[in-house]
Amino acid sequence: MYDCKLCGVTCYTTYLCQDKCNRIKDMVNLYGVDTVLDVLETVLIRSEKQRNFKLKQKLNEEISQSLKIGNKKEAKNC
Ligand SMILES: [Zn+2]
Repeated sequence: MYDCKLCGVTCYTTYLCQDKCNRIKDMVNLYGVDTVLDVLETVLIRSEKQRNFKLKQKLNEEISQSLKIGNKKEAKNC
């Protein structure tokens, strides 16, 4: 038995999981490690600009939600 070198799951025949990590290795062989790493960093890790956009989006949702609640309370008082 081996521990997968990528994810650490116990494997029985190789140093990489047959289903998942071996597929990643195939992608690295196909596209090159730099391309795969670039895609992973682009897709999975947010830049500061993306984080700020997400934060503004979240704040706008909370503000509009609180305005809706405020409008409902005002309507009850009328
Ligand atoms: Zn693995």
